[in-house]
Amino acid sequence: MTDEELQAWVQALSQTAFSMEFSHRAYFNARLRTTGGRYRLADHNIEINPKMLGYGKEVVAGIIKHELCHYHLHLAGLGYHHKDRDFKRLLAKVGGSRYAPAASKQRKYHYQCTNCQQDYFRQRLVNTDKYVCSKCHGRLALVGLAQKN
Ligand SMILES: [Zn+2]
Ligand SMILES: [Zn+2]
Repeated sequence: MTDEELQAWVQALSQTAFSMEFSHRAYFNARLRTTGGRYRLADHNIEINPKMLGYGKEVVAGIIKHELCHYHLHLAGLGYHHKDRDFKRLLAKVGGSRYAPAASKQRKYHYQCTNCQQDYFRQRLVNTDKYVCSKCHGRLALVGLAQKN
């Protein structure tokens, strides 16, 4: 999954679950270790831990909704902290997750060429603007996390 696809997903979830527009940026951040995602108070952007893709789309959707609760409440001037009543209420209403699953370091990022479907397994996140398929020079997309060592 690319950052652009994540952006589109977050925008779609904001519309369907909150009936409100998400007008900032969402992108993957591999440096997130203990959390599934992060809402940045300073610039209103949302970061998602790419390791969470290994737990499936449902888990990631729950994390996105959680971060969107911070986002919409903060912008509306309401209680956006975990302990706030506004936050707890909205999180329950949209079905956001309360905790992210613990991220394992044993896994590898699974990329696939969007042209020839060649698989690539990398220890770290790859800049897909820079690194392309070595066979056909096609664009790589993040599939998820593989158990492979
Ligand atoms: Zn939170
Ligand atoms: Zn290829």
